[in-house]
Amino acid sequence: MPSEPITRPEVKRRLTNLVDDLARHVDYLHEEGVTEVDRSRTIASEGLPVSAIPLVPPVSDADVSTELTAIAQTVAACKKCGLYEKRRQTVPGQGHLHPDILFIGEGPGEDEDKQGIPFVGRAGKMLTRLITRMGYTRDDVFIANIVKCRPPNNRKPLPAEMKMCRPYLEQQIAVLKPKVIVLLGASAFEGLVPPKSPGITISKVRGKWLEYQGVPTMPTFHPSYLLRNPSAMWDVWSDMQQVLKRLGRTPPPAPAKTK
Ligand code: URA
Ligand code: SF4
Repeated sequence: MPSEPITRPEVKRRLTNLVDDLARHVDYLHEEGVTEVDRSRTIASEGLPVSAIPLVPPVSDADVSTELTAIAQTVAACKKCGLYEKRRQTVPGQGHLHPDILFIGEGPGEDEDKQGIPFVGRAGKMLTRLITRMGYTRDDVFIANIVKCRPPNNRKPLPAEMKMCRPYLEQQIAVLKPKVIVLLGASAFEGLVPPKSPGITISKVRGKWLEYQGVPTMPTFHPSYLLRNPSAMWDVWSDMQQVLKRLGRTPPPAPAKTK
């Protein structure tokens, strides 16, 4: 199918993203104490990111899929922050091309780093149960993370790392156009919708609608937190009921209790 011509606002949006990305990269290098760059190693000379993302708005499943693949390929070659050094592989995200819900976690853990798939370890099983309880399957939603490479020893990603990785998530969101975004835990919250003042924690914002680029966005606790604090499931479930209501869906009846 022929692609629609790219519109002026879209060109503007993409150029703005590029300039923001470059500015973030320079900030990052500055924070890392880098004072000089080797100009022979430009993005173009490595044959990497910018050109990998086609300048065509997605109109069909095939286009969405092509754009997601292009983003994933760019991520696979990315060395923009130090997390690339210890990764086994990148974990760009996985799921439906037109999802009702985009779940965003923190970053890959050991299992995800081995398999290249988000949320497949213990926290992943918890998330999968939640998704099922909401009446979806993992294939019906999209699952991604704030950073695409595993932080060593599963430490929290640094603000500079989240900032460097953010454009990939922004591009994914622009392509996927989810109806609702669910932020799983503090890193997802801080990374996507940075709080306006310090001290606004995930406990304070969870259950309250935020907005990202016009997409209703619900912050809630991370599944790992649920593993440590099972009673927080009541809060998470209440947040997910708000999400379902917004999507015009009712959750399937609770499974009968087994003795
Ligand atoms: N925790 C996350 O935040 N993301 C994953 O992909 C796995 C565990
Ligand atoms: Fe690149 Fe993100 Fe991996 Fe850092 S975490 S190297 S920015 S893909």
